[in-house]
Amino acid sequence: MKPTPFTDIQYLKGVGEKRAALYRKLGVETIGDLLYHFPRGYVDLRAPYTIREAPIFEVCPIKATLTRKSPEQRIRKGLSIFKLLAEDETGEIEITLFNCRYTVDALKADTAYIFYGKPGGSFLRREMSAPDIYPAASDARILPVYPQTAGLSSRMIGRGVAQAFESLGGLPDVIPPGVRESENLPEMDAALREIHFPQDLTQAKAARERFVFEELLSLCCALEITHTGHKKAKVRPMAKTDLAPFYASLPFEPTRAQVRCIDEAIADMTGETPMNRLIQGDVGSGKTLIAVALAYMAAKNGRQAAVMAPTSILAEQHCETISKMLEPFGLRVDLLTGGTTSVKRKKIYADLADGKIDVMVGTHALLSDGVAFARLGLVVTDEQHRFGVAQRVKLSEKREHTHTLVMSATPIPRTLALIIYGDLSLSRLDEKPPGRTPVETLLIDGGKRARAIGFLRKALEKGEQAYIVCPLVEQGEADLGLRPATEYAKALAEKELKGYRVGLLHGRMKAKEKEETMRKFKSGEIQALVSTTVVEVGVDVPAATIIMIENAERFGLSQLHQLRGRVGRGKDKSWCILVSDSKDPNTRSRLGAMKDHADGFEIADVDLQIRGPGDFFGYRQHGLPTLRVADLADDISVMQRAQARARALLAADPDLSREEHRPLAGRVGDLLQKVGERPN
Ligand code: ADP
Ligand code: MG
Repeated sequence: MKPTPFTDIQYLKGVGEKRAALYRKLGVETIGDLLYHFPRGYVDLRAPYTIREAPIFEVCPIKATLTRKSPEQRIRKGLSIFKLLAEDETGEIEITLFNCRYTVDALKADTAYIFYGKPGGSFLRREMSAPDIYPAASDARILPVYPQTAGLSSRMIGRGVAQAFESLGGLPDVIPPGVRESENLPEMDAALREIHFPQDLTQAKAARERFVFEELLSLCCALEITHTGHKKAKVRPMAKTDLAPFYASLPFEPTRAQVRCIDEAIADMTGETPMNRLIQGDVGSGKTLIAVALAYMAAKNGRQAAVMAPTSILAEQHCETISKMLEPFGLRVDLLTGGTTSVKRKKIYADLADGKIDVMVGTHALLSDGVAFARLGLVVTDEQHRFGVAQRVKLSEKREHTHTLVMSATPIPRTLALIIYGDLSLSRLDEKPPGRTPVETLLIDGGKRARAIGFLRKALEKGEQAYIVCPLVEQGEADLGLRPATEYAKALAEKELKGYRVGLLHGRMKAKEKEETMRKFKSGEIQALVSTTVVEVGVDVPAATIIMIENAERFGLSQLHQLRGRVGRGKDKSWCILVSDSKDPNTRSRLGAMKDHADGFEIADVDLQIRGPGDFFGYRQHGLPTLRVADLADDISVMQRAQARARALLAADPDLSREEHRPLAGRVGDLLQKVGERPN
C-alpha cells in the first residue's frame, strides 16, 4: 500500500516499532508529521575555522586532523571519557567526548574531521567538549539539527525525513495558491526541501517564514470560526438596573475601578449588539465582583447567567461566593462540574430549562450537550485562556445570542487579545481593594528549607494557613531532583509538620477529592496544603499567609505571580518563599525580580525581557494549541496579515469547502479538535 501523510510513522521504510516509539516522544505520529518536524537550526560546515581563528565560547566548526586517541577512561559506572587530540597548521586542540565508544572507534587517526562545538581553553591549548564530528570530506554542507531524543539522533531523523520525501513525494499545499502568490511565499514542496536540506541559509529562512505564515493562517481561520456568529447576532437590550441595593449588601465598598468596569459592561448590555468584553485585572483585584454584579443585573432583567471557570475548584469557590451575594436577593445559584452526580445533573438540566436557576456556575461541563438554558442572557468566563480551542468553539456556539464577559489576570497585548478573543472591548481593573499588606517575597536555597518550615510552623500555630507548591505530582523517571507533591506531603506530615494537618492537592486526583480537599483547606481543617499548580488560578483562602514554592526555577514569572496571589488576601501579613538551588545567573535574576515587583503587568514585562518572548507567549498562557514554528510575540505582524487573509478566505468560502481550500480545511479541523492541555 502506498503510504500517505497519515500513515503511521512505524510503517515508514527503516523505522519499525521501536523507533516509532521514539518518534512519538517527539510528537511525530505519522509520516506527514515527520515532514513537519522541522530542524531547530543548522550546522554550516561550508567555511570551517582553523584552530587559532575559531571564536572562543561560540559554537562553530573547526577543521582539523585527528592525531591521537587516548584510551577510554572509566570515571564511574555509566560514565566514560575519551580524549582526542587534533591539529592543523595553526595549533592543537584537545577534544573530550563522553560515553560514545562507537563514535570514537569509527574515527581514524591522520584523517581530517570537522569538529562542531564550543571551543574553550587557553590561547596555547584549545579544547572542545562533546562536539559533533563530521568527516571533512562529506558532501553535505549545511546539515539540519533536529529536536532529538535519546536513541534517535538528529542524523537518524535527517535520514528519516529523506525517506519520507521519497515515499510521499511531497505534501498538498495548505496555503491556497492565491494567498501564497500574494504573500510571495515559496511553494509547499520546495519550502519543505529547503527547510530540511537547505542549499543556503537564506532559502531556509524563507522556507521557515512560509511555515510560520501557514501555521498562523490555520490558527487564525480556526479562531475566526470560533468568533463568527457572535458578531452578527442581535440581542434584546436589557434595562439599566439600579445596583444600589446590591452594592449596599456587600461587606465592603467596591473600588472605583470595579464600579467603572461594571458600568462599562452595563453600557454594552443595554445595547442590542451582544457584549464581548475582556476584563483584565491583576490577581486579587476583585474580578469576581464584576461577574456577580452583572449576573444580578441579568437576573433583574429576567435573564439567566452562566459563570464558567477552568477548574472545578474554582467553580466551586465561585458558586459559594456568588450564592452568598445573590441568594439574599432570592436568586438561585447552582453548580455543575464534571463531578456532579448524574441524579443532580438531571435535576439541574431540568431546572435550567425551566428557568428556575438564575446563575449557573460550572466548569466546561456547562458546555455539555444536555445543558439548555431557558433564557440565557450572560456568559462570564473566568481565566478563559485556560480553556482549549475546542471548548471555545463550543462556547461560542452556545453563546450566540448572549452577552459575553471574559475575565483574565494574564496581561495580553491588545493586538494578541483581539486575535484570540475576536473583536472585543477591554476594561482594565487597575486598582486593588484597599487595606492589603503587600506580600513579602523571599528567595532561599534548599539549605534554608528547615528554617523556612520552622517559620511556617509558627504561622500555623497562630491559626494561619500555608500552601506548599511543587512542580510535579509524582517522581517521574526524567525529573530526578525535583520535589514531587505526593512524596513531599507524606514526608512533611511524618516529620517536619508532624502533628499539623497536612493536605495534598493535585490534578490527577478525582474532581470530588479535589473539591473535598479544597473545602477542608478553606474551612481550616487542613492547615498546610501541599499542591501542584492547580491552586494557581483564582483560589481564594484569606487565612492563608504563606506560600512556599519548591523548585521555583521551574515556574514562569507570571505563574509565580499567580501563585503568590494566593496569599495576601486577608488582613495578616503574608509571605511568598521561593526555594531554588539553581545557580544559573539568569534564573537568579528572574526569581529576584519577584522580590522587586508586586504588579503582574510589570512582572510580565520583566519576564519578557529576561526570557524572551518564546515562553511567555507559550501556549499554556493562552490555551492555544502548540505552535511548531511560529512565535506569537515575534511574529505578531505575520499574525495580523494571516488574520486579514483568514477573514477574506472565510468571507468568500465560510466552511472552506472549495477544492483549493481542502488542505487548509483539514488543518483547521485538526486545530479545532485539539483540546488545550488541562492544567495539572
Ligand atoms: P481576582 O479574581 O481578581 O483575583 P477576587 O475576585 O477573588 O480577585 O477577589 C479577591 C479578594 O478580594 C476576595 O476575597 C474578595 O472578597 C475581596 N474583594 C473584592 N473586592 C473588594 C473590595 N472592593 N474591597 C475589599 N475586598 C474586596
Ligand atoms: Mg479570580
